[in-house]
Amino acid sequence: MVAAHTGASVLTRSSVGPILERGNVVNVVLMGPPGAGKGTQAGTVADLVGVTHVASGDLFRELAQQDSELAQLVQAYMNRGDLVPDDLTVAVVMDRLDQPDCQNGFILDGFPRTVGQARALDRRLSEESRRIDQIINLVVPEDTLLARLSGRWLCRRCHSSYHSLFSPPTWPGLCNRCGGTLYQRDDDTLQTAKRRLRVYERDTMPVLDYYRAAERLVDVDGDRPVGEVSEALREAIMTSRMDV
Ligand SMILES: [Zn+2]
Repeated sequence: MVAAHTGASVLTRSSVGPILERGNVVNVVLMGPPGAGKGTQAGTVADLVGVTHVASGDLFRELAQQDSELAQLVQAYMNRGDLVPDDLTVAVVMDRLDQPDCQNGFILDGFPRTVGQARALDRRLSEESRRIDQIINLVVPEDTLLARLSGRWLCRRCHSSYHSLFSPPTWPGLCNRCGGTLYQRDDDTLQTAKRRLRVYERDTMPVLDYYRAAERLVDVDGDRPVGEVSEALREAIMTSRMDV
């Protein structure tokens, strides 16, 4: 990295190519609590800046369909109800990041979830002379998160879906379409939402501290209209691309 800024090396034609190419690569981790809108934003922004969106949740769902050695190892842990060890989880993610479409940059969402995973990811990437250039933390106040996470209501009769923030029924508790009563699934209750945020704080806040200590973390305000958040994320990533 440093060599790019020292006089002589940038003057030789042969070294200019790779450096300019490297300048276009940007590897990002998008962090944020449940309900912050990570998944949606990661997809949108990956398209805006021309890199690949890697959602770790999808990787594990896809793995269940595969029958590679790695898939079988992971499946064995999951079948026993055990936590998949960090090294194995990182192997699954690295397997994806090693694909050709990730060589020009990626936005990783849903991973790393623990400091152990963050360290292992750094180690594995550095073995390939790659790195995470930027970690973006989507910041959303807790009351907004709770409202987003616990706002979903379903109609008992016709199964229409409502959200108390985004698509409220005309009459509270009643379905617009059929007049049936609305209810919440266990996954959508306030209690479940609070529990998810506690788990995030316990396991994943230390990951933010780890990245913040390395001065690679940028906070972005996620408590505003979706389009504005996307634009702020795009700007943050483009800025980091210039810094490379
Ligand atoms: Zn209904």
